[in-house]
Amino acid sequence: MRKRPRRRRPKRSGANGAGQRRQKLSRRVRELYRPDLADDPEAAEWHAELEGELARPGRGRGRQKTRSGERASDEAGVLDERDDEQATGSESTGRVIAISSGSCRVQCGEEALDCVLPSDLARNQRAVLAVGDRVAFATHGASHRLRRILPRRTVLSRPDPRNPRDERVIAANIDIAVHVESVAQPPLRPALVDRYLIAIARGGADAAVCVNKMDLLSGTEERLRELAKLAPYRALGLSILPCSAKTGEGLDDLHKLLAKRTAVFVGHSGVGKSSILNALAPGLDADTGAVTRRSGTGRHTTTRSSLYRLEDGIRVIDTPGIREFGLWQLTEDELAAYFADFEEHAARCRFRDCAHTHEPDCGVRAAVEAGELSAARHEAYLRIRASLASGD
Ligand code: GDP
Ligand code: ZN
Repeated sequence: MRKRPRRRRPKRSGANGAGQRRQKLSRRVRELYRPDLADDPEAAEWHAELEGELARPGRGRGRQKTRSGERASDEAGVLDERDDEQATGSESTGRVIAISSGSCRVQCGEEALDCVLPSDLARNQRAVLAVGDRVAFATHGASHRLRRILPRRTVLSRPDPRNPRDERVIAANIDIAVHVESVAQPPLRPALVDRYLIAIARGGADAAVCVNKMDLLSGTEERLRELAKLAPYRALGLSILPCSAKTGEGLDDLHKLLAKRTAVFVGHSGVGKSSILNALAPGLDADTGAVTRRSGTGRHTTTRSSLYRLEDGIRVIDTPGIREFGLWQLTEDELAAYFADFEEHAARCRFRDCAHTHEPDCGVRAAVEAGELSAARHEAYLRIRASLASGD
């Protein structure tokens, strides 16, 4: 049987203490937060412990009040006081809506509060904290300090472009990830869809594709021709929503799809993510046309995401354009599992461990030749497989 080398785990030299500590921390975070480890006994135990902590009735000072007198909690209730800060503060929970250096903005009931990150988290904030995270924080007078990140339900993540062994969570606790494409300026790139679908499926959220700038196409024929490029994905059961932020086409359907859910918009810069968000919620004023934003130090490329609350219980996390969408720690052997449309054909492969690349009597390649399986899907599979083999 053919054996392929699995990708090696990162190794660090003992000399690099900070690096090692960071690795250890991010590994721990990964272990505890990965939704695909939900069945792992240790992770489950830790989750149960946290859930238990959440459920425990408050002792001592009781519940945190906001200025308006409402209970200061997003949805998970109030945590118990703990350790040395018991006497001076109590804990509340909320959802991270924006992150900046050393602090994050937390939505807590109707209030958005700035929370300072403790120094160990601040040092690793890009690795450990994401927009959409639910957090527990303590309040002392007018200042708020983040205590813990609560377990994540889902994530959308990718490898750190600079250090591919580290995971970067783009958004946490999302119900659906909407991959936004445009039909022109930039042109439709169906080949990107496959990667996003895999990343979304791995993180546990639902997926949809929004095809924006339909107003730039003239006539039914051109519209049908463009949308036909996405037919293999529609056949997978994926929602494909043609729309235009400019004319409003398709926005009602998008609104219905997102109602009462937390969504993340992903896709290349310039496809219209912010424009769609603004069209869904006029007056929201998300940055558009903005590859760069003003900062105190001059113009710089934005790398920040923000969570916006819309009507009908919709929450949207708008992400900056993502040029490269790597697949974090996916091995070549695991890849086929994310191509559900291959499954029935793979049953006819001669070899049980057939990679569907070059093997004789491959059911998947035979299905492509017979026109029963999309050639574009098989090409996407080969392309992604080759990129995994080369360590991209
Ligand atoms: P983002 O980088 O994905 O957030 O894209 P933006 O929302 O900033 O939009 C990029 C550019 O595309 C801007 O100049 C928008 O005015 C334009 N744009 C966005 N949506 C549409 C649309 O539906 N039709 C047309 N014609 N232009 C659009
Ligand atoms: Zn095969």
